[in-house]
Amino acid sequence: GQAVFRSNLSHLLELMGSGKESLIFMKKRTKRFAIQWALAAQRLEQKLGGVRRDQKQILVHIGFLTEESGDVFSPRVLKGGPLGEMVQWADILAALYVLGHGLRITVSLKELQSNLGVPPGRGNCPLTMPLPFDLIYTDYHGLQQMKQHMGLSFRKYRCRIRVIDTFGTEPAYNHEEYATLHGYRTNWGYWNLNPKQFMTMFPHTPDNSFMGFVSEELNETEKQLIKDGKASNMAVVYGKEASIWKGKEKFLSILNKYMEIHGTVYYESQRPPEVPAFVKNHGLLPQPEFQQLLRKAKLFIGFGFPYEGPAPLEAIANGCVFLQSRFSPPHSSLNHEFFRGKPTSREVFSQHPYAENFIGKPHVWTVDYNNSEEFEAAIQAIMTTQVDPYLPYEYTCEGMLERIHAYIQHQDFCAAPGPAPPGARAPQSPFILAPNTTHLEWAHNASLAPGAWPPAYSLRAWLAAAGRACTDACLDHGLICEPSFFPFLNSQDAFQKLQVPCDGIESEMNHLYPAFAQPGQECFLQKEPLLFSCAGSSTKYRRLCPCRDFRKGQVALCQDCL
Ligand code: UDP
Repeated sequence: GQAVFRSNLSHLLELMGSGKESLIFMKKRTKRFAIQWALAAQRLEQKLGGVRRDQKQILVHIGFLTEESGDVFSPRVLKGGPLGEMVQWADILAALYVLGHGLRITVSLKELQSNLGVPPGRGNCPLTMPLPFDLIYTDYHGLQQMKQHMGLSFRKYRCRIRVIDTFGTEPAYNHEEYATLHGYRTNWGYWNLNPKQFMTMFPHTPDNSFMGFVSEELNETEKQLIKDGKASNMAVVYGKEASIWKGKEKFLSILNKYMEIHGTVYYESQRPPEVPAFVKNHGLLPQPEFQQLLRKAKLFIGFGFPYEGPAPLEAIANGCVFLQSRFSPPHSSLNHEFFRGKPTSREVFSQHPYAENFIGKPHVWTVDYNNSEEFEAAIQAIMTTQVDPYLPYEYTCEGMLERIHAYIQHQDFCAAPGPAPPGARAPQSPFILAPNTTHLEWAHNASLAPGAWPPAYSLRAWLAAAGRACTDACLDHGLICEPSFFPFLNSQDAFQKLQVPCDGIESEMNHLYPAFAQPGQECFLQKEPLLFSCAGSSTKYRRLCPCRDFRKGQVALCQDCL
């Protein structure tokens, strides 16, 4: 059938069940956003102008909330534990529901089995059975549970799975054989999914799909009220756990010279010893009260942890300036405990790279905290800077609905693989060297790959400088790397048209290919489509990089992607 936008969320709230503290938190959030979701649905419906949308049957299995995976999060909801994941799951559920799809939600192994049709007591069902869902959203815990309990069906249906994966999974870690051979060892990874099946909290790498979450959107009247009500000398410290305050006395005392410092650190009976007496600690606040605090504050200040959470976006949306520390050297799975074992080598250059790179000044200040003068100067400057509340479109309800709608309409990982591997296809690629430039474009008279998404004519391809990743090479041109275009580029012809002087050409498994190796002047093609990767660089190679444009405030979608 056809999907019809929904504006009443009461049935969703029933579907979400009850009991666990995490579910209670999520349901409160969903209720609080109900009006915003309804408005966003109206606007998107108008924007799409009656385009036909198929109704999908969707299972959402939230693995980390199952007892079987330990459910360490639920008991910490009221004690300062992480809430970002619950924020995101609540918003995913709301978006799928508002878009009008058929929804089942499971938070235990038993419910999962009964929805998948696995007979109870059959730990590992060897038979393939028909799967009553078009799509399954889960996380790494849930993926493991499905693999264990779906038998052979898992292989058959894994293309229908979407994995909500906060920090992202790079292709080199995803490909089992390659990761094992080349030491991309992790606690996760190794699933051989299409990397776009992993969906992240922020647009970390275009190799994955950006899922995101939402923050409250204010109308003009509310924005003006907030601006008028700001206390220019009030700061709120980012973080619910006392441990983040450890060793920060120096910064706190500098900050205290200028501003009244507020905290929302969880405590049981007494003030946590890490939090100095001059700080006004509110304890962990319910989300709406936390928003109220942000509305009054001028500054939201991060001390390096937690990484990449929702709170800075909420602060900026409520008119705060976010001040955070630059990480030099950058943090990553190679040098920091928190990222160790995560399936990515992404380097994190500040506490919140999205805030730094996608928002920036005047809303976001990223400074070197080792330099007290720089730190102090930033605080002084921030106190006299006027900023408006700001929320990037991709984090509004409408933006999230638009993105998920596009994914559901266009992403199909079950379809037969795209272009054949190199060698097997026509020698001419459909590109031309753009006049007076160094990049390739789709030739106007070339036929388009039917159904390809994003549409292939938005492709622009460059040979990156040695040592440069495709993610960065594309950004240099104001574009974004688009991994689904790699197969079009993976040919001798593409190198030729770019006038790359290949002495020889070879096809191998390497997540940096296609690339030109300078010593030896050799050109390399990619042998394994799962290894096409925007991330990754080596000074040995100049990578061949596919880029595309993107919508303002919606980096996941190209101009013609809706
Ligand atoms: N939050 C809250 N009460 C507080 C402080 C924060 O409810 O006292 C919420 C905040 O609104 C945000 C969520 O906690 O949506 C997660 O924030 P954070 O960025 O700290 O990420 P986490 O580390 O919890 O995943």
